Amino acid sequence: MEQLKQRILTDGKSLEGGVLKVDSFINHQLDAHLMMDIANEFVARFNNGEGITKIITIEASGIAPAIFVGYLLNVPVVFIKKSKPKTITTAALTTSVYSFTKDKYYDMNMNAEFLNANDRVLFIDDFLANGNAALGVLDLIEQQKAQLAGMGFVIEKSFQKGYKRLKEKGIKIVSLARISSLENCQIQFAE
Ligand code: 5GP
Repeated sequence: MEQLKQRILTDGKSLEGGVLKVDSFINHQLDAHLMMDIANEFVARFNNGEGITKIITIEASGIAPAIFVGYLLNVPVVFIKKSKPKTITTAALTTSVYSFTKDKYYDMNMNAEFLNANDRVLFIDDFLANGNAALGVLDLIEQQKAQLAGMGFVIEKSFQKGYKRLKEKGIKIVSLARISSLENCQIQFAE
């Protein structure tokens, strides 16, 4: 997605350790127009959402793109919580995931009521790095015997192993900007 790549080049910052900072338009301050364009692109690349019954994302940064996709497809959006609130009183689905940016394990929690075997799920997130978050979500989907339609990432860091790990599982992956290298703090895109 050319517009997104240009924005990453203009406003993104490559930090030490292979981390891309996009706080001014994705992770902290949000550009709603760009988010809507991103959502339209996901919808087009996932066959106009054919058969998709639910969008799943993870708090916090996945929520913005996910909610626009849910709006366009007119399906519910569920965000996975990283702490278990007291309001999840019925059966909770949980799995433990290693966080790339925080360098520690956290629990993914969701209310089992919001996902069932009739659901065909599109997972949307801001970044694909090593794929741990995505595989955690897959675990929750499998626990409920729901179906996965695919996974959409705003930014994929192709130099990390996430893409390969998901591809090996036969998952349809759509990444709108694919970064091949952040070496020497330079942003380079994959072809
Ligand atoms: P993974 O589980 O694929 O290793 O990492 C995905 C999660 O880590 C994303 O949901 C995102 O929040 C965070 N993440 C991974 N790499 C980056 C990065 O370079 N920049 C930012 N801002 N977040 C990242």
